[in-house]
Amino acid sequence: MRTPIVAGNWKMNKTVAESVEFVRQIKTALPPATQLETALAGQPIALTAMLEAAQGSPLKIAAENCYYQTSGPYTGETSPTALYAAGIHHVILGHSERRQLFHEDDQLINRKIKAAIAAGICPIVCCDETMGRLITSQRVEWVVARILDDLKGLTAQQAEQVTIAYEPTWAIGSGESADPSQAEEGCYLIRQTLGHMFNETVARQTRILYGGSITPDNIKQMMAKPDIDGVLVGGASLDPRTFLELVNFN
Ligand code: PGA
Repeated sequence: MRTPIVAGNWKMNKTVAESVEFVRQIKTALPPATQLETALAGQPIALTAMLEAAQGSPLKIAAENCYYQTSGPYTGETSPTALYAAGIHHVILGHSERRQLFHEDDQLINRKIKAAIAAGICPIVCCDETMGRLITSQRVEWVVARILDDLKGLTAQQAEQVTIAYEPTWAIGSGESADPSQAEEGCYLIRQTLGHMFNETVARQTRILYGGSITPDNIKQMMAKPDIDGVLVGGASLDPRTFLELVNFN
């Protein structure tokens, strides 16, 4: 019922030329979007060139961030309406790197989510977690609070536009992914929270991804879990051959 997704998050990597070359290399080898959705998120400077390179293929091109205002004196920020006008219909919001390095809090992320949806862009909202919380059993409180705060004020109809990525911070870029059962617990918890916050339909339909050191070796186990509908991949998405291995995990 929920189409699985393999989404790459390139972060601050690749020149425009490298981004385009990557898209050209993989585009003809991707499955139809009805079977598995594929997406790549790149830097703002590369997005329109990536979009052009992806034409005719099912690959979706995503932004890694946007602002909550649509225009005005916000030097260095990217407008969600400008992204939409350029043909970008997906954006990653609230990644733990944005939260930690750029001090984004839930209120700001909530504003960005609302602005993205208003502009017609589907947000991929990241929900982080630390090892400390997992060990001290504070996980439930933390994860529930992130979902409640980040999606606050959304209608059920708006919430249906959202994809969530459960990303334990200790697993990001560390080479040590969460155990599939830990990842499933996190995603299940998010789904339960969506059910309480909105309704059963939203809970059932929302795609929830796992992110953190996903590789061709561990993707299958993750994807086998009932509440994990896809993966958000950093490091392993940077090489075209590895990205295609991820896409062909089955
Ligand atoms: P990683 O990054 O796959 O390199 O761990 C995941 C992410 O930051 O989304």
